[in-house]
Amino acid sequence: TEHLLQVDDLRVDFDGEGGPARVLRGVSWHVDRGETLAILGESGSGKSVTAQVIMGILASPPARIAGGAVRWEGRDLLTLPEAARREVRGEGIGMVFQDSLSALNPVLKVGPQVGETLRTRLGLSRREARTRAIELMRQARIPDPERRFGQYPHQFSGGMRQRVVIAMALALSPQVLIADEPTTALDATVQVQILRLLQALQQESGMGLVLITHDFGAVASIADRVAVMYAGRVVETGAVRDVFRRPAHPYTKALLDAVPRADRRAGRLAALPGQPPVLRGDSAGCPFRFRCSLAHDACDEREPVLSEHERGHWSACHLGKDVISGALPARS
Ligand code: SF4
Ligand code: MG
Repeated sequence: TEHLLQVDDLRVDFDGEGGPARVLRGVSWHVDRGETLAILGESGSGKSVTAQVIMGILASPPARIAGGAVRWEGRDLLTLPEAARREVRGEGIGMVFQDSLSALNPVLKVGPQVGETLRTRLGLSRREARTRAIELMRQARIPDPERRFGQYPHQFSGGMRQRVVIAMALALSPQVLIADEPTTALDATVQVQILRLLQALQQESGMGLVLITHDFGAVASIADRVAVMYAGRVVETGAVRDVFRRPAHPYTKALLDAVPRADRRAGRLAALPGQPPVLRGDSAGCPFRFRCSLAHDACDEREPVLSEHERGHWSACHLGKDVISGALPARS
Protein backbone atom coordinates (compact mmCIF):
# COMPACT_ATOMS: atom_id res chain seq x y z
CA THR A 1 0.00 0.00 0.00
CA GLU A 2 1.09 3.51 -0.74
CA HIS A 3 1.54 5.88 2.17
CA LEU A 4 1.67 9.66 2.20
CA LEU A 5 5.20 9.72 3.60
CA GLN A 6 7.23 6.56 3.81
CA VAL A 7 10.82 6.08 4.87
CA ASP A 8 12.01 2.84 3.34
CA ASP A 9 15.15 1.01 4.49
CA LEU A 10 17.02 4.30 4.86
CA ARG A 11 20.76 4.05 5.47
CA VAL A 12 23.07 6.93 6.40
CA ASP A 13 26.80 6.80 7.18
CA PHE A 14 28.87 9.49 8.82
CA ASP A 15 32.44 9.50 7.62
CA GLY A 16 35.00 9.86 10.37
CA GLU A 17 38.12 8.49 11.95
CA GLY A 18 37.90 4.74 12.51
CA GLY A 19 35.64 4.20 9.49
CA PRO A 20 32.10 5.27 8.70
CA ALA A 21 29.63 5.36 11.58
CA ARG A 22 26.43 3.58 10.56
CA VAL A 23 24.02 6.20 11.87
CA LEU A 24 20.92 4.82 10.14
CA ARG A 25 21.00 1.11 9.37
CA GLY A 26 17.83 0.46 7.42
CA VAL A 27 15.12 2.59 9.00
CA SER A 28 11.52 2.18 7.81
CA TRP A 29 8.35 3.92 8.95
CA HIS A 30 5.37 5.66 7.42
CA VAL A 31 2.76 8.26 8.27
CA ASP A 32 -0.59 9.03 6.69
CA ARG A 33 -3.06 11.90 6.93
CA GLY A 34 -4.98 12.09 10.17
CA GLU A 35 -2.52 10.22 12.39
CA THR A 36 0.35 10.90 14.74
CA LEU A 37 3.47 8.77 14.63
CA ALA A 38 6.05 9.16 17.39
CA ILE A 39 9.70 8.34 16.77
CA LEU A 40 11.04 7.52 20.22
CA GLY A 41 14.70 7.14 21.07
CA GLU A 42 17.63 8.35 23.13
CA SER A 43 20.02 10.90 21.70
CA GLY A 44 22.38 9.08 19.36
CA SER A 45 19.71 6.65 18.20
CA GLY A 46 19.42 8.39 14.80
CA LYS A 47 15.89 9.72 15.14
CA SER A 48 16.70 13.28 14.03
CA VAL A 49 18.86 12.14 11.14
CA THR A 50 15.81 10.64 9.44
CA ALA A 51 14.04 14.01 9.57
CA GLN A 52 17.14 15.75 8.22
CA VAL A 53 17.20 13.42 5.22
CA ILE A 54 13.49 14.01 4.59
CA MET A 55 13.93 17.78 4.68
CA GLY A 56 17.17 17.79 2.66
CA ILE A 57 19.16 19.43 5.45
CA LEU A 58 21.52 16.59 6.29
CA ALA A 59 25.08 17.95 6.56
CA SER A 60 26.82 16.04 3.81
CA PRO A 61 29.71 15.56 4.06
CA PRO A 62 30.33 14.11 6.62
CA ALA A 63 26.94 12.39 6.28
CA ARG A 64 26.24 10.21 3.26
CA ILE A 65 23.00 8.53 2.23
CA ALA A 66 24.07 4.92 1.74
CA GLY A 67 20.76 3.44 0.62
CA GLY A 68 17.00 3.38 0.83
CA ALA A 69 14.24 5.76 -0.16
CA VAL A 70 11.99 8.51 1.17
CA ARG A 71 8.67 8.20 -0.64
CA TRP A 72 6.14 10.98 -0.90
CA GLU A 73 2.88 9.64 -2.35
CA GLY A 74 4.96 6.79 -3.71
CA ARG A 75 7.65 8.87 -5.43
CA ASP A 76 11.21 8.73 -4.08
CA LEU A 77 12.19 12.21 -2.94
CA LEU A 78 15.87 11.29 -3.05
CA THR A 79 15.80 10.75 -6.81
CA LEU A 80 13.20 13.35 -7.83
CA PRO A 81 14.36 16.38 -9.81
CA GLU A 82 15.38 19.24 -7.53
CA ALA A 83 12.35 21.43 -8.34
CA ALA A 84 9.84 18.69 -7.50
CA ARG A 85 11.74 17.89 -4.35
CA ARG A 86 11.67 21.50 -3.25
CA GLU A 87 7.94 21.65 -3.84
CA VAL A 88 7.26 18.61 -1.63
CA ARG A 89 9.57 19.89 1.09
CA GLY A 90 8.10 23.36 0.94
CA GLU A 91 4.40 22.70 0.59
CA GLY A 92 3.89 19.07 1.53
CA ILE A 93 5.96 18.84 4.68
CA GLY A 94 6.42 21.36 7.48
CA MET A 95 9.14 21.10 10.08
CA VAL A 96 9.46 22.37 13.65
CA PHE A 97 12.81 22.16 15.37
CA GLN A 98 13.73 21.99 19.03
CA ASP A 99 15.53 25.30 19.12
CA SER A 100 13.07 28.12 18.45
CA LEU A 101 15.73 30.76 19.07
CA SER A 102 17.87 29.73 16.14
CA ALA A 103 14.82 29.28 13.89
CA LEU A 104 13.97 32.96 14.25
CA ASN A 105 15.98 35.96 13.13
CA PRO A 106 16.54 38.06 16.29
CA VAL A 107 16.69 41.40 14.45
CA LEU A 108 13.44 40.99 12.50
CA LYS A 109 9.92 41.39 13.82
CA VAL A 110 8.11 38.12 14.37
CA GLY A 111 5.02 38.65 12.17
CA PRO A 112 6.88 39.34 8.94
CA GLN A 113 8.96 36.22 9.58
CA VAL A 114 5.78 34.17 9.80
CA GLY A 115 4.57 35.82 6.59
CA GLU A 116 7.82 35.50 4.67
CA THR A 117 7.13 32.08 3.15
CA LEU A 118 3.72 33.31 2.03
CA ARG A 119 5.33 36.13 0.12
CA THR A 120 8.19 34.17 -1.40
CA ARG A 121 6.31 30.96 -2.23
CA LEU A 122 2.75 32.08 -2.79
CA GLY A 123 3.51 35.61 -3.97
CA LEU A 124 1.20 37.28 -1.46
CA SER A 125 1.41 41.04 -1.07
CA ARG A 126 2.73 42.51 2.17
CA ARG A 127 -0.82 43.26 3.33
CA GLU A 128 -2.16 39.79 2.41
CA ALA A 129 0.80 38.13 4.11
CA ARG A 130 0.17 40.18 7.24
CA THR A 131 -3.48 39.11 7.42
CA ARG A 132 -2.59 35.47 6.89
CA ALA A 133 0.34 35.58 9.34
CA ILE A 134 -1.96 36.94 12.04
CA GLU A 135 -4.40 34.12 11.28
CA LEU A 136 -1.60 31.58 11.60
CA MET A 137 -0.47 33.10 14.90
CA ARG A 138 -4.04 32.91 16.15
CA GLN A 139 -4.22 29.29 15.01
CA ALA A 140 -1.09 28.63 17.08
CA ARG A 141 -2.97 30.16 20.05
CA ILE A 142 -0.73 33.20 20.40
CA PRO A 143 -2.79 35.74 22.36
CA ASP A 144 -3.28 39.18 20.81
CA PRO A 145 -1.58 38.35 17.49
CA GLU A 146 -2.15 41.83 15.96
CA ARG A 147 0.05 43.36 18.64
CA ARG A 148 2.49 40.43 18.71
CA PHE A 149 2.98 40.70 14.94
CA GLY A 150 5.22 43.76 15.38
CA GLN A 151 7.33 42.45 18.26
CA TYR A 152 10.80 40.91 18.22
CA PRO A 153 11.68 37.31 19.18
CA HIS A 154 13.29 38.40 22.48
CA GLN A 155 9.93 39.81 23.58
CA PHE A 156 8.47 36.28 23.48
CA SER A 157 8.81 33.57 26.11
CA GLY A 158 10.29 30.23 25.04
CA GLY A 159 6.84 28.68 24.75
CA MET A 160 5.44 31.60 22.74
CA ARG A 161 8.47 31.51 20.45
CA GLN A 162 7.84 27.83 19.82
CA ARG A 163 4.26 28.75 18.88
CA VAL A 164 5.64 31.26 16.38
CA VAL A 165 7.84 28.56 14.87
CA ILE A 166 4.82 26.26 14.65
CA ALA A 167 2.84 29.03 12.94
CA MET A 168 5.66 29.39 10.39
CA ALA A 169 5.67 25.64 9.74
CA LEU A 170 1.92 25.75 9.08
CA ALA A 171 2.15 28.65 6.62
CA LEU A 172 1.82 26.51 3.50
CA SER A 173 -0.76 24.13 5.05
CA PRO A 174 1.51 21.06 5.05
CA GLN A 175 0.02 17.58 4.80
CA VAL A 176 2.67 16.30 7.19
CA LEU A 177 4.24 18.20 10.07
CA ILE A 178 7.49 16.87 11.51
CA ALA A 179 8.31 18.13 15.00
CA ASP A 180 11.82 17.27 16.22
CA GLU A 181 11.92 17.46 20.02
CA PRO A 182 9.60 20.48 19.93
CA THR A 183 9.32 20.74 23.72
CA THR A 184 12.77 19.75 24.97
CA ALA A 185 13.94 23.30 25.67
CA LEU A 186 10.78 24.22 27.58
CA ASP A 187 9.69 23.74 31.17
CA ALA A 188 7.18 21.05 32.07
CA THR A 189 3.88 22.95 32.03
CA VAL A 190 4.77 24.68 28.76
CA GLN A 191 5.76 21.32 27.26
CA VAL A 192 2.28 20.01 27.89
CA GLN A 193 0.71 23.10 26.29
CA ILE A 194 2.82 22.77 23.15
CA LEU A 195 2.00 19.07 22.84
CA ARG A 196 -1.71 19.83 23.23
CA LEU A 197 -1.37 22.51 20.56
CA LEU A 198 0.29 20.11 18.11
CA GLN A 199 -2.40 17.54 18.80
CA ALA A 200 -5.19 20.09 18.26
CA LEU A 201 -3.60 21.33 15.02
CA GLN A 202 -3.25 17.77 13.76
CA GLN A 203 -6.90 17.06 14.51
CA GLU A 204 -8.19 20.35 13.06
CA SER A 205 -6.32 20.06 9.79
CA GLY A 206 -6.25 16.27 9.38
CA MET A 207 -2.55 16.41 8.57
CA GLY A 208 -0.12 13.67 9.55
CA LEU A 209 2.13 14.48 12.51
CA VAL A 210 5.55 12.96 13.14
CA LEU A 211 6.71 13.66 16.68
CA ILE A 212 10.40 12.95 17.30
CA THR A 213 11.02 12.70 21.02
CA HIS A 214 12.88 11.07 23.88
CA ASP A 215 9.92 11.66 26.18
CA PHE A 216 7.55 8.71 26.29
CA GLY A 217 5.04 10.71 28.33
CA ALA A 218 4.61 12.79 25.17
CA VAL A 219 4.19 9.63 23.11
CA ALA A 220 1.57 8.25 25.46
CA SER A 221 -0.41 11.48 25.46
CA ILE A 222 -0.66 12.28 21.73
CA ALA A 223 0.62 9.53 19.40
CA ASP A 224 -1.38 6.79 17.64
CA ARG A 225 1.64 4.72 16.65
CA VAL A 226 5.24 4.64 17.83
CA ALA A 227 8.54 3.55 16.33
CA VAL A 228 11.22 2.92 18.98
CA MET A 229 14.73 3.49 17.65
CA TYR A 230 17.99 2.07 18.92
CA ALA A 231 21.46 2.38 17.37
CA GLY A 232 20.18 3.41 13.95
CA ARG A 233 17.30 0.96 13.64
CA VAL A 234 13.65 0.69 14.57
CA VAL A 235 13.59 -2.07 17.20
CA GLU A 236 9.88 -1.99 17.98
CA THR A 237 6.85 -0.43 16.32
CA GLY A 238 3.08 -0.61 16.62
CA ALA A 239 0.05 1.10 18.08
CA VAL A 240 1.02 3.03 21.22
CA ARG A 241 -1.44 1.11 23.39
CA ASP A 242 -0.01 -2.26 22.24
CA VAL A 243 3.63 -1.25 22.56
CA PHE A 244 3.22 0.37 25.98
CA ARG A 245 0.96 -2.32 27.44
CA ARG A 246 2.76 -5.30 25.96
CA PRO A 247 6.29 -4.22 25.04
CA ALA A 248 7.87 -6.85 22.79
CA HIS A 249 11.46 -5.63 22.96
CA PRO A 250 13.63 -5.61 26.12
CA TYR A 251 14.70 -2.02 25.37
CA THR A 252 11.13 -0.71 25.38
CA LYS A 253 10.38 -2.84 28.42
CA ALA A 254 13.41 -1.50 30.28
CA LEU A 255 12.43 2.07 29.46
CA LEU A 256 8.95 1.54 30.81
CA ASP A 257 10.21 -0.33 33.89
CA ALA A 258 12.76 2.37 34.66
CA VAL A 259 10.04 4.85 35.60
CA PRO A 260 7.30 4.22 38.18
CA ARG A 261 3.88 4.03 36.58
CA ALA A 262 2.65 7.21 38.26
CA ASP A 263 5.60 9.19 36.87
CA ARG A 264 5.38 7.93 33.31
CA ARG A 265 3.91 11.11 31.92
CA ALA A 266 7.03 12.94 32.97
CA GLY A 267 9.28 9.99 32.11
CA ARG A 268 12.54 10.47 30.30
CA LEU A 269 14.61 7.88 28.51
CA ALA A 270 17.69 9.01 30.40
CA ALA A 271 16.36 6.87 33.27
CA LEU A 272 18.02 3.85 31.65
CA PRO A 273 21.76 3.55 32.44
CA GLY A 274 24.28 3.60 29.58
CA GLN A 275 23.75 4.81 26.03
CA PRO A 276 23.30 3.42 22.51
CA PRO A 277 26.55 2.40 20.80
CA VAL A 278 27.83 4.06 17.63
CA LEU A 279 28.33 1.20 15.19
CA ARG A 280 31.23 1.36 12.76
CA GLY A 281 31.81 -0.84 9.76
CA ASP A 282 30.03 -4.16 9.76
CA SER A 283 29.11 -5.30 13.24
CA ALA A 284 27.42 -8.51 14.27
CA GLY A 285 25.06 -9.18 17.13
CA CYS A 286 22.24 -7.25 18.74
CA PRO A 287 23.33 -3.66 19.45
CA PHE A 288 21.30 -3.67 22.68
CA ARG A 289 23.10 -6.72 24.13
CA PHE A 290 25.44 -4.60 26.30
CA ARG A 291 22.47 -3.21 28.23
CA CYS A 292 20.06 -6.12 27.97
CA SER A 293 19.23 -8.26 31.01
CA LEU A 294 18.09 -11.06 28.69
CA ALA A 295 21.17 -11.20 26.43
CA HIS A 296 22.28 -14.73 25.56
CA ASP A 297 24.70 -16.38 23.11
CA ALA A 298 22.59 -15.84 20.00
CA CYS A 299 22.59 -12.11 20.73
CA ASP A 300 26.38 -11.92 20.22
CA GLU A 301 26.19 -13.74 16.91
CA ARG A 302 23.27 -12.32 14.98
CA GLU A 303 21.35 -9.08 14.92
CA PRO A 304 17.61 -9.78 15.16
CA VAL A 305 15.30 -8.48 12.43
CA LEU A 306 11.83 -6.98 12.88
CA SER A 307 9.10 -9.58 13.00
CA GLU A 308 5.37 -9.24 13.62
CA HIS A 309 4.35 -10.51 17.07
CA GLU A 310 0.72 -9.53 16.86
CA ARG A 311 -1.21 -7.66 14.20
CA GLY A 312 0.65 -4.44 13.40
CA HIS A 313 3.08 -4.85 16.30
CA TRP A 314 6.68 -5.58 15.31
CA SER A 315 9.87 -6.04 17.27
CA ALA A 316 13.47 -7.09 16.67
CA CYS A 317 14.58 -9.50 19.39
CA HIS A 318 15.57 -13.16 19.39
CA LEU A 319 13.18 -13.82 22.26
CA GLY A 320 9.43 -14.14 21.99
CA LYS A 321 7.29 -11.43 23.50
CA ASP A 322 5.93 -13.70 26.27
CA VAL A 323 9.46 -14.10 27.59
CA ILE A 324 10.01 -10.37 27.41
CA SER A 325 6.80 -9.26 29.09
CA GLY A 326 7.42 -11.65 31.99
CA ALA A 327 11.07 -10.71 32.29
CA LEU A 328 13.03 -8.96 34.99
CA PRO A 329 13.78 -5.28 34.62
CA ALA A 330 17.05 -4.34 32.92
CA ARG A 331 20.24 -4.65 34.94
CA SER A 332 21.46 -1.39 36.42
FE1 SF4 B 1 18.33 -8.57 24.36
FE2 SF4 B 1 19.17 -10.52 22.78
FE3 SF4 B 1 16.74 -9.52 22.41
FE4 SF4 B 1 18.94 -8.09 21.79
S1 SF4 B 1 18.22 -10.00 20.83
S2 SF4 B 1 17.17 -7.35 22.85
S3 SF4 B 1 20.34 -8.71 23.42
S4 SF4 B 1 17.48 -10.64 24.21
MG1 MG C 1 17.92 15.03 17.98
